[in-house]
Amino acid sequence: MECSCLLCLAARATALGDRRGPRITKDFDVVPGDGPVLSRRGLFALAGAAGAAALVAPATAEAATPATPRSASPAAPEPRTRPQDQAQAQARGQQARRQPAARGGVRRLWITNIHTGESFNGVYWQGGRHVPAGLRQLNVLLRDHRSGAIARIDPRLFDLLSQMQARLRLREPFQIVSGFRSPETNFQLYMQSSGVAENSFHTRGMAVDITTRSRSSGQLVRVARGIRYGGVGSYRGQRYIHVDTGPVRTWVY
Ligand SMILES: [Zn+2]
Repeated sequence: MECSCLLCLAARATALGDRRGPRITKDFDVVPGDGPVLSRRGLFALAGAAGAAALVAPATAEAATPATPRSASPAAPEPRTRPQDQAQAQARGQQARRQPAARGGVRRLWITNIHTGESFNGVYWQGGRHVPAGLRQLNVLLRDHRSGAIARIDPRLFDLLSQMQARLRLREPFQIVSGFRSPETNFQLYMQSSGVAENSFHTRGMAVDITTRSRSSGQLVRVARGIRYGGVGSYRGQRYIHVDTGPVRTWVY
């Protein structure tokens, strides 16, 4: 049976010649973070359209990726994000952080890794602080399953997933299609598919690709966008979406 993870599907789509570019949606900037990126032609069009909705010409990761690696710092600037959008994103992020993920000062998460079968269903935040044992389990669960590398996952990602789970009233776990990727793994995938960014947020422990059995990707996207925290990417014809704790933006690939 062929693997159904995002990366394998993206690689197969590329092999089939499906190289459609990203859709720029109203009210959001599209920046290279993970998945689709813009060609130089697309960037000029974006600048001219001043953020208006547009469908950009076919793009490749290579076309818009800087020749020199960007800083691995989560605070690395996103050159195509406007300052006013960053301020708005920050305000939204603060708003999102103020919203409790669950009553009683407890934040829960239920996720399972489709590659390893491992699950976490428990509390990762309680009494005003993170639960170290919970974070350790989550870091292991979201490891690079190809290399076995474990990274510290940005805890804000758990807050985002927890809020999504609560808003969706899910009675099932989020299925993790892709969590942390070591730079080596990401580079291999980047070389195989135009749908993988060279400096993906996955390599910084700031992104996951998720799906569920009971909700469509459209439902997941609507909820994730409603929280207005980080990036939200979806893929035509696929049930999984990408979410990260980078700048607020969205795309359809
Ligand atoms: Zn992703």
